[in-house]
Formats: sequence, C-alpha cells, structure tokens
Amino acid sequence: MNPDTVVHWKDLKLARTGIKTEDFAKQGNTTFALLLVNGTFKDQYVSEGGQCAEHWMLTSVTWVSEIERAVSKVHGPRPEPSSFLVALNRTPCNGHHGSISGRGGCSGKLVAELVRIRESLADPDRFDEFFAFTLACTGYYDGPNEEGKPMYGLWTTNYDILALQRAGWKVKALQVGKSLTARGRKLATWSGEIATSKVLVPDEKHPFVKEQFDRYMDQALKWTPKASLPRKPGK
Ligand SMILES: [Zn+2]
Repeated sequence: MNPDTVVHWKDLKLARTGIKTEDFAKQGNTTFALLLVNGTFKDQYVSEGGQCAEHWMLTSVTWVSEIERAVSKVHGPRPEPSSFLVALNRTPCNGHHGSISGRGGCSGKLVAELVRIRESLADPDRFDEFFAFTLACTGYYDGPNEEGKPMYGLWTTNYDILALQRAGWKVKALQVGKSLTARGRKLATWSGEIATSKVLVPDEKHPFVKEQFDRYMDQALKWTPKASLPRKPGK
C-alpha cells in the first residue's frame, strides 16, 4: 500500500486529548470527526440531531476561526502556509444526499469549503503552496448492512472522493488498528489512483461522465461556508 495514501492513528499524537481510539476504530451510526491544525489537535465532533460530525465541524467556531486565520496569513505581507487534518471514522456521506443546506451532503460541503478558499486567493493556482488539507478516513461509507441492504442511502461514491480530491482534499485511509480495514484499502487504492493520474479514472460502477460531475459540483456549491473570507484584491 502506498504510504502516501495512509495516515496512521499513532502519528496524530492524540494522547491527553481525551479522544477515544475506539470511537475511530469502528464504523457505526455515530460519526466522529477530529480536527488538527498545523499538527496540533484542536477539537472533536460527534454526530447529533441528524447531522454528521463533519457538518458540526464545518459550522464550528474552531473551524471557522482557523480557516479565517489561515486565509488571512496568506494575504499578509509574508504569506505562510497552513495544514489541516480532518480524521473521520468513515468517509463523508454522499454529496447528493439530502439538501446541501440541510442534513447530509457532507462530501459536497467539504468540497465547497475548499473551492471557496481557493477562489478567495489572489492567485488560485497557488492554493497548494499555502494549504494542505488532509481527509483521513477509515474507509468507504458504502456498505450494505447486516441484511445486505445499503445503509441509509448516504454512502460515499467514487464521485465524492474524486470531487474531494479535485477540490484540494488529500483523501487518505486512516489506519487505526494493526491494519487498514477492507474499505480503507479500497479507499487508499482509489484515492491514490486519482492523485497520481492526470486523466479521470473511470469507476466500474459509475462510469465517469463530465456532465454528471459538473452537476455534482453545482449541487456541492450550494453549501455556503460559514467563514467569511477576504475578497480578492481588486474585487
Ligand atoms: Zn454527512
């Protein structure tokens, strides 16, 4: 497995943060997220009120203020880079599910956040120079449940992973135990292929069609990030 596509739990250095490893080792109804900025643990989130943990992260004071600070550092006289790492006990739910402004659609929300940050830069092409966004997930949220039925209709598709990567998220598999889960291996393989390929990799279940992808992005961008980003100079 390509080490560039795997994040190891122990490397997050979460001792004394109160984070429970077992919350991230299992994939169930309850979702957990945690945020590290520049290698330092900042906050943890849990699903509540029908919203996923990553929704609560994106609407949290911590996320909003850290994003605003990171963007303002880029606009300063001596631009400085920032790194964000988000760990989840699965992948974010499908970007098309539910209403992007309401419940669900977390992949789309995460996509929209980075698209807006990129657009706020005087030179969007320098995004990678100033930001490293890593999304470390234990595996695809795509599984059939015990009865063999799909879970909730929320499952993550390869479009989601593709859109997240295109937006600027380095989607990696999070290894919590001694080895990756089966879904973690699948995620690491697919995200690695997208990351190293200039051409779009077709998914055998969902053949890639540009029109569909564009529709996906239109939907994702209906999410309005809570951070207020500075306008581009001259606008
Ligand atoms: Zn969600």
